[in-house]
Amino acid sequence: MKRDAEIFELIQQEEKRQMRGIELIASENFVSPQVMEAMGSVLTNKYAEGLPGKRYYAGCEYIDKVETLAIERLKELFGAEWVNVQPHSGAQANMAVFLACLQPGDKILGFDLSHGGHLTHGSPANFSGKMYQAHFYGVEKETGRINFEKVYKQIKEIKPKLVICGASAYSRDWDYELLRKAANEVGAILLADISHPSGLIARGLLKNPLKYCHIVTSTTHKTLRGPRGGVIMMGTDFENPFGIKNSKGETRLMSSLLDAAVFPGVQGGPLEHVIAAKAVAFQEALSDEYVRYVLQVQKNADILANCLIDKGYHIVSGGTDNHLFLIDLRNKGISGKQAEQALVQADITVNKNMVPFDDKPATVTSGIRIGTPAITTRGLVEKDMPRIAEWIDKVLTNLSNEQVIASVKAEVNEFMSNYPLFHA
Ligand SMILES: *Cc1c(COP(=O)(O)O)cnc(C)c1O
Repeated sequence: MKRDAEIFELIQQEEKRQMRGIELIASENFVSPQVMEAMGSVLTNKYAEGLPGKRYYAGCEYIDKVETLAIERLKELFGAEWVNVQPHSGAQANMAVFLACLQPGDKILGFDLSHGGHLTHGSPANFSGKMYQAHFYGVEKETGRINFEKVYKQIKEIKPKLVICGASAYSRDWDYELLRKAANEVGAILLADISHPSGLIARGLLKNPLKYCHIVTSTTHKTLRGPRGGVIMMGTDFENPFGIKNSKGETRLMSSLLDAAVFPGVQGGPLEHVIAAKAVAFQEALSDEYVRYVLQVQKNADILANCLIDKGYHIVSGGTDNHLFLIDLRNKGISGKQAEQALVQADITVNKNMVPFDDKPATVTSGIRIGTPAITTRGLVEKDMPRIAEWIDKVLTNLSNEQVIASVKAEVNEFMSNYPLFHA
């Protein structure tokens, strides 16, 4: 067959774009060559509905071993008793949990999207806000932090069936223990969605929610540095609180409800090539190199935030404990949209983001989100952070000066040409 020149040309262009820029989108990363190799393998040809040893299709003897390795490695990485590695994405993982735990119209309580939460935690634009009655908690105006005592009270008042913790743009750690106490008192299930900081959690740099939360979901492509996908985990498997029984009249375990919610509940055939790539990424995440990597991610984020504070930028909550932070640009008189557009012209990629109590709409915003997982994979360290802060500040103080932006772009491109996409 004739090679598809059009598509492969575009892939090459994208590779060049990734090479020449400073990637500060907090949810992105660069996978290793072996993760990509697994993703691009013949495993994509195979149907394998079901679970290892219990498939609806023949010919799964190797696929079963691949998926079993992914399961075992993920359990080891987080100290989980049960996991499912099949969710196609973070959103699908959450959807499966909702399907397993809730009836339509049930009350849920999640972190407000405009304060850093995620669409799948009850946004009216998402299934989670359309099918369930969503309530929200947020950060405090003065501190930019969640007051967990207040969330505790909210849980007691609202009595939701499901409490969701975790965020896409929150730079501090969580009090899972207090949330679990509240959840127990009202009979709610506590879900932690650790899509963003999962890599830091896996290697002990942040608290591990598996000790306190009934269920934990994550993506695999953010700090975890695997292929695009999702996972569901439990520290301890537990009896479902809804009294759902199996054919022998025994109460079904939560693991069996969650497995059934993933398939056939919300998905068809699992992406076994992606599951193979997940297994490779989990093994990488178990290595000493990866510990050094996540430590560097955290150091880089802390230093970059402080360099920007020194230049007069307002960082929400005053800094970061993890791999990301939000800049509130209101004191600089520019919008998130303007900042994003100017920075991308200099090949510095960030995303505009609502800040807590934002007065601008989601399409404009007053902030930008910055994360260090991707640049750290490329090999950037502490000493490089002041330079990046310098470039960001130069662009943001010369928004409409094309010459200045072009000169920053040239410096950025020259600098990044020294770093391969994946720096092991
Ligand atoms: C990224 C993210 C998701 C969704 O992941 P997708 O793979 O894009 O569906 C879910 N929850 C949180 C908190 C996230 O940050």
